Amino acid sequence: MDADVVVIGAGQAGLSAGHALRRAGLDGARPGGRPGGFVLLDAGDGPGGAWAHRWPSLRLDRVNRIHDLPGMPQPAAPPDTPASELMSAYFADYEQVFELPVRRPVQVRAVRADDHGFRLDTSEGWWTARGLVNATGTWTRPFVPSYPGRADFRGRQLHTAGYRGPEEFAGQHVVVVGGGISAVQHLAEISEVATTTWVTRREPVWRTDDFDADAGRAAVAMVDERVRAGLPPVSVVRVTGLARSPMLAAATARGVYTRLPVFDRITPDGVHWDATATSPARDLRADVLLWATGFRAALDHLAPLHLRTPGGGIVMDGTRVVAEPRLHLVGYGPSASTVGANRAGRAAVRELLATLQRAPAA
Ligand code: FAD
Repeated sequence: MDADVVVIGAGQAGLSAGHALRRAGLDGARPGGRPGGFVLLDAGDGPGGAWAHRWPSLRLDRVNRIHDLPGMPQPAAPPDTPASELMSAYFADYEQVFELPVRRPVQVRAVRADDHGFRLDTSEGWWTARGLVNATGTWTRPFVPSYPGRADFRGRQLHTAGYRGPEEFAGQHVVVVGGGISAVQHLAEISEVATTTWVTRREPVWRTDDFDADAGRAAVAMVDERVRAGLPPVSVVRVTGLARSPMLAAATARGVYTRLPVFDRITPDGVHWDATATSPARDLRADVLLWATGFRAALDHLAPLHLRTPGGGIVMDGTRVVAEPRLHLVGYGPSASTVGANRAGRAAVRELLATLQRAPAA
């Protein structure tokens, strides 16, 4: 099956790119149809991107701010609506209204380049494309750091990606690992029904009142600088600091955010800190280790293109991969937010179509 442009992933970033391709006048590519046009290949079972999988207690009044997709506002919904519910329905409508040619579930397994473009090995056969927009997010690549003893822990371990809400932890002791927004939200919820311990590698940074649009732009610029240098991106939220929403303020008042440094090893029954100059060795019993330790960019299918630098990242110029100008990454690095994904989708399509116009067609 041949397309001019394949968009891999149909979350916020992929749909934004799809919208821009539609506006640029491209048709949907169809199997058996004439070659050309564009298609979005998405591994999900249904619309919504990663939002479809987020835990039910992540309600609209508990997210930072979810920006509308380009050209169509979100429907109004009560603040206690689960974000997963609203966003899945909104994305489904969006795909229909703009007649976006999304094919799912289609997993892209490997991408290879040739003189004319790319060959994509997918769970539904081969696709070729002259240009690619990669919008595969991070949700499918949860990251858990390795600590000695992890395999011996007799309790339950789970990552944010597997968190469904606090109820299942009632009466237990839960150690939450990680200093980001997911960790503090898990702690606020779980501490209502269980006892908790919070461990982070660094002292958490709470956002102060002087955080404004300029500070937000500076944070995005910092992540942009990293990816231009070929370093792995860090989450934009990690740079902006943690905002104290009313839910987090209530948890703060309950003393939930007293933080400890990360333990030295995991024991069968909990975690252990070695002695330091200021504190004796210590063991803590735990029923659950909840790893709120983030995600990595889901880019394994691009491995045959050999884009990784020794520093572990991909050298970028905006959304364009410097070593492969027919490939754009959106929702990656500085554009890993709903507003960033919107802008990146639009910018990537504009630049990619200009590149393809200059290149001879196959
Ligand atoms: P995703 O939504 O993850 O979409 C990627 C799509 O690609 C998925 O549908 C997936 O199935 C598909 N895919 C993956 N691999 C393949 C493959 N190999 N082949 C085919 N398809 C594939 N941002 C905000 O602006 N505000 C917030 O309040 C906010 N809250 C957040 C809360 C949490 C817990 C997290 C983790 C993130 C939050 N973010 C928030 C970030 C935001 O959700 C994302 O940056 C944004 O939704 C962009 O998504 P995306 O399109 O890049 O990726």
